[in-house]
Amino acid sequence: MSTPVRHYVGGGFDACGDPFPLVDPACGRTVAEVPAASATLVDRAVNAAREALRGPWGAWSPADRSRVLHLVADGIERRFEEFVAAECADTGKPRELAATVDVPRAIANFRAYADLLAGRGEHSWHTGTPDGRGALNYTVRKPLGVVAVISPWNLPLLLLTWKVAPALATGNTVVAKPSELTPSTACLLAEVTAEAGLPDGVFNLVHGEGANAAGQWLTEHPGVDAIAFTGESGTGTSIMRAAADRLAPVSFELGGKNAGLVFADADLDEAVAGTVRSAFTHSGQVCLCTERLYVERPVFDEFAARLAAETRKLDGYGPMISAAHRDKVLGYLTRAAVDGEVLAGGGVPRFGDDRDQGFFVEPTVLAGLSEDHPVVREEIFGPVVHLAPFDTEEEALALANAGPYGLAATVWTRDLARAHRVAPALEVGIAWVNTWNLRDLRTPFGGVKASGIGREGGDHSLDFFSEPMNVCVKL
Ligand code: NAD
Repeated sequence: MSTPVRHYVGGGFDACGDPFPLVDPACGRTVAEVPAASATLVDRAVNAAREALRGPWGAWSPADRSRVLHLVADGIERRFEEFVAAECADTGKPRELAATVDVPRAIANFRAYADLLAGRGEHSWHTGTPDGRGALNYTVRKPLGVVAVISPWNLPLLLLTWKVAPALATGNTVVAKPSELTPSTACLLAEVTAEAGLPDGVFNLVHGEGANAAGQWLTEHPGVDAIAFTGESGTGTSIMRAAADRLAPVSFELGGKNAGLVFADADLDEAVAGTVRSAFTHSGQVCLCTERLYVERPVFDEFAARLAAETRKLDGYGPMISAAHRDKVLGYLTRAAVDGEVLAGGGVPRFGDDRDQGFFVEPTVLAGLSEDHPVVREEIFGPVVHLAPFDTEEEALALANAGPYGLAATVWTRDLARAHRVAPALEVGIAWVNTWNLRDLRTPFGGVKASGIGREGGDHSLDFFSEPMNVCVKL
């Protein structure tokens, strides 16, 4: 561990609270202890954030804030290897993934919002619109106040900074609560924000679990003005209840059961390679991963055979985040083996080293299950994809759009007209055509149905984290 796990409140580090173990999922060993924040500490953090709103931070111009966000990005860049090592230690993910996705994206998150703010200039936040009837109207954009940011374990730094950066860009103060399973990079981030010159209390960090613990105390706190949350849909429901009492705005990025559609005219080499990525990146523990793939019948057998063959070749993949999550995924695989067909994987790999005590699951391709089977309906969040055939475009769309979730989808086809017909008809927040997880941080990001509330990314984030106010002056 590169850095001890500590809370960061009002500009000071603190390790108070009952400790709980931090387990390395790649070998099952306890590697550190995490202090669980008490309700009193959460209260102190919210109060520190409120106090900071009234301090110098409140007077910083957008240009000042843009500069400090770039300094935070510089700080992560300077300590790149420490961040990578901490992210790998907490999640067990391969170094390459943390070094090419998680940490670079965290840097990009800060730079993107810093640039967006600078690009808008000092005055574009105040747009004058005379109405020609003797009055001048203008809009003032204000911060929401104290924002709680609650994040999951799968892309810990990336998803935390995805919300912290725009919240700070718009002048809010933040109390962050990362997943109890992956607290380390958030601590490094706290150090970097201090080094960058963010005033005390602007960014605060508390550790602990969710229900009946730091997460819940934070979302229920009357001093929290808005909640930005990424995690399971069920947790979103609980948080929305907590926010409802005081009508606090929420932005939710939630679970998914993402579909892919492979049409017979697709470039099958690309569709197979793309599906290996979309199903098995980070061992399927990315909210955007494909868990249901529908393949047009004439190419179903060939596609299934090729995907299974490529899947069997995979090595160097990381573990499930915890023993409990591994057991949950294996529970689905046991049912799938009874009710359907296992085309590749399906069990626990044996390495003959430390990893045999870790929480690994083989990348798995399934087929033959009905659409109402739990494996096809419920989010597994592991290295598992189920294949089923379809005959018509209408059927493909109906299959993809079934179910409670609506986060992301992929379409593989060489027919341009079909691509433009099918993609917008998908009931999701993001549809990729002939690719997966290609991101431009200015585009709207989020889900429909049980996959989320609101959109983040670019201006969408700046809009959520700020409140527009109209001033009308009679001339
Ligand atoms: P989770 O909902 O269990 O936990 C997420 C965070 O919420 C953690 O910090 C946890 O401590 C906290 N929490 C839990 N219960 C709480 C409560 N009652 N009140 C306040 N906070 C609470 O999710 P997870 O297992 O960490 O992450 C996996 C889930 O996240 C999957 O469903 C995945 O699809 C989803 N996810 C979605 C996106 C997206 O962008 N849509 C991105 C990544 C992950």
